[in-house]
Amino acid sequence: MKVDWLIVGAGFTGAVLAERIASQLDQKVLVVEKRNHIGGNAYDYYNEHGVLVHKYGPHIFHTNSKKVRDYLSQFTEWRPYYHRVLASVEGKLVPVPFNLNSLYALFPPKYAERLEEKLICTYGFGVKVPILKMKEAKDEELRFLADYIYKNIFYGYTIKQWELTPEELDPSVTGRVPVYISRDDRYFQDTYQAMPKQGYTAMFGRILSHKNIKVLLNTDYREIVREIRFNRMIYTGPIDVYFDYMHGSLPYRSLRFEFLTFDREWQQEVGTLNYPNEYDFTRTTELKHLTGQRLPWTTLIVEYPQAYQPENINFEPYYPIPREENRLRYSLYEKEAAKLGGSVLFAGRLADYKYYNMDQAVARALKLFEEIAHG
Ligand code: FAD
Repeated sequence: MKVDWLIVGAGFTGAVLAERIASQLDQKVLVVEKRNHIGGNAYDYYNEHGVLVHKYGPHIFHTNSKKVRDYLSQFTEWRPYYHRVLASVEGKLVPVPFNLNSLYALFPPKYAERLEEKLICTYGFGVKVPILKMKEAKDEELRFLADYIYKNIFYGYTIKQWELTPEELDPSVTGRVPVYISRDDRYFQDTYQAMPKQGYTAMFGRILSHKNIKVLLNTDYREIVREIRFNRMIYTGPIDVYFDYMHGSLPYRSLRFEFLTFDREWQQEVGTLNYPNEYDFTRTTELKHLTGQRLPWTTLIVEYPQAYQPENINFEPYYPIPREENRLRYSLYEKEAAKLGGSVLFAGRLADYKYYNMDQAVARALKLFEEIAHG
């Protein structure tokens, strides 16, 4: 077989690049995917109860990029959806990220009112204040509030999610956790927040439907790379695997998902419940909130964080671990990639060893396409 491009991986990065190259450059693309489906981690399917579920954890689309939204809108209609999350703290359900409503969910009304006034006076309304900054507030009650949120909402969740204390993680992670001085309970504040109306896999089916694209599933590219003739390659798998771990393996955090179906219409009042302090799992997500499906029964995803084991095929690499030493190791691989002189292009969350939201993965792919198209 002869193609212009071999693309490894049928997630957002691989699919968007395949579509752009096929439709804009009129070149032939073979997409090779080792899993038995397209869509990468955004893959969804109907389970045995007819509930649309996300195999690799809940995926909620949100972006401030009109370009990304317009691009994807060629392949899907949207269902507006604003995600809401409540954290279980001392037996109460509290909106997160922590905001003014959270004060009233936790504390007696008079005390909540006083804290609200102090927050607005000190920082202004509509402002997101990093929790570490608030810990240094002059006012004693604001320092108490920051400590309370840190201890009861942030610390336990971080330990479960990463098996590291917040101090052991890169300050870019801990420094970002905000207190939102607002009544806006939405988990995200992006301009565009919506779910693909027929689901992600249907959208990927349309992205990859161009006549110049062929998709080969159930195939690790290494099994076929010698049998295919191609000019250039785009690789969206793990960069350390590409280079046979020559600089050691890049660490990831993994997850185990449990899917539970209940014989009742709704199980929880919002999309996601976080459990910072109780249980082994971090959160439960009720998919019907996200997808808008109406059924008399419901399915939840329960997420159990776990260490990643590269040699074990049952473990997926999900979150790059944000620590300086890992970034340094990644930069060694980046140098190896540069030595290939552009014959193989590396992109995506596994090849860039960087957590991307879906819109960031699409933006990265669109930018790389521009570079390819303009030589
Ligand atoms: P992937 O989707 O991982 O695609 C890479 C593909 O390459 C995979 O399908 C893999 O099987 C394939 N591959 C790897 N090696 C080989 C090989 N040797 N041969 C053939 N194929 C190979 N983003 C949001 O915007 N909102 C969310 O709510 C959200 N929730 C998330 C929840 C979880 C638990 C996780 C882990 C991520 C979440 N994301 C979310 C991020 C989202 O999943 C990523 O942005 C997206 O998956 C990036 O796409 P990608 O193509 O770079 O990588």
